[in-house]
Amino acid sequence: MAESIALTNAVIIDGTGKEPFKGTVFIQDSKIVEITEGSFTPTQHDFKVIDLRDAFLIPGLIDAHLHLTGFRSGDLLKESLLVPYEVLVARVVKDLEALICSGFTSIGDAGGSIAVGVKKAVEEKTILGPRISAAGHTLSQTFGHGDEHYLPIQYVDPRESRFKSSLGALICDGVEECQKAARYALRCGADFIKVSATGGVLSEKDRPEYTQFTIEELKAIVQEAKHAKRFVHAHAQGTEGIKNSLLAGVKVIAHAIFIDQECCDLAKEKDAIVVPTLSIVEHIMRYGKQIGIPEWGLQKCEQVYKIHIENIKLAYKSGVKLATGTDFLGGTNAFKHGQNALEIVLFVEKIGMSPMEAIVAATKNAAQAVGFSEITGTIEAGKMADIVVLKENPLENVRTLMEPSNILMVLKEGAVVKDLLKCSMK
Ligand SMILES: [Zn+2]
Repeated sequence: MAESIALTNAVIIDGTGKEPFKGTVFIQDSKIVEITEGSFTPTQHDFKVIDLRDAFLIPGLIDAHLHLTGFRSGDLLKESLLVPYEVLVARVVKDLEALICSGFTSIGDAGGSIAVGVKKAVEEKTILGPRISAAGHTLSQTFGHGDEHYLPIQYVDPRESRFKSSLGALICDGVEECQKAARYALRCGADFIKVSATGGVLSEKDRPEYTQFTIEELKAIVQEAKHAKRFVHAHAQGTEGIKNSLLAGVKVIAHAIFIDQECCDLAKEKDAIVVPTLSIVEHIMRYGKQIGIPEWGLQKCEQVYKIHIENIKLAYKSGVKLATGTDFLGGTNAFKHGQNALEIVLFVEKIGMSPMEAIVAATKNAAQAVGFSEITGTIEAGKMADIVVLKENPLENVRTLMEPSNILMVLKEGAVVKDLLKCSMK
């Protein structure tokens, strides 16, 4: 069990949006037990006191939409077909370390076969990494975004394929097949159900605007998730697919490239969360050619890049709840896990959020988007002690969140997993 700690003389940004305040956070049995404002008086002797000398505390960051694929390039064919599965898993272990050391104490894996497994290895502390909420196998219609149609069809569905893929999808058409696929995903350990409700950028033969699944199919999937006390997270880029998802009761809308005013109003009415994943689009634009993204992906990305930003600005101005998610897959320069704070930076620089709003989107809102809002996302009594200690004030320069040397300490459930201070500032 982690020791009892008092993080004192810290400037606390608690993730609720409240103004920063100076105070002390008391941690016992993995949880935050008390927060006191003002200067510290050492009366509680059972706590190991760590004097942070005006360093900044934020809740552990959360990436609500990424994929632990083990990929190291944008060459989807090569990574999918030629890299042994065991190598991909080993790379994921490294990616999890990079994530937690960069301040990400929770993540949502929006589809793939590796996360549901390595999640258990993290929980039993065999490997170091963030808390994982995982979708496992995604649901896609035939010729859907998840039916990776750059591959032969017999390679895609894990129920039929002898080929073990870190992506893949459960191909289902019609209400009954959708129900069965949702139940199969749950049987494999899904914490939430991921569906592809539209075409996408990194799927060869469709486009982001294409509507996928009927509203009846989406409703059936949402119903199966609700029966198992879970929720649905939809890849939804085209306007109609976003609208169908919201009407069907989907809780998390990913990408939302063509979100319009009607969808924004509907998202607010339904209390849905939009995870725009600006980072992957930014990185495809910046590094796509160099890392081997196929030509069809590059072209579509260029076509939607500006529209996406404009529409997410509309969502922000309309008061839609936004959460951070990068859609990173793993990689060397682009899509690299460990650089996931890029989404916070883009929320500020491209969408016009204040740094405080972007931090709330990466903590409190992102916790809701992955189903962890009861246990993490804010620095409040009763929550898990998932805390990041920063040298620089992120409200003054949000880009410092991307600098490894600025992340002084990371605590997950009260255990110190990164410590540049070596607790020497006592
Ligand atoms: Zn994704």
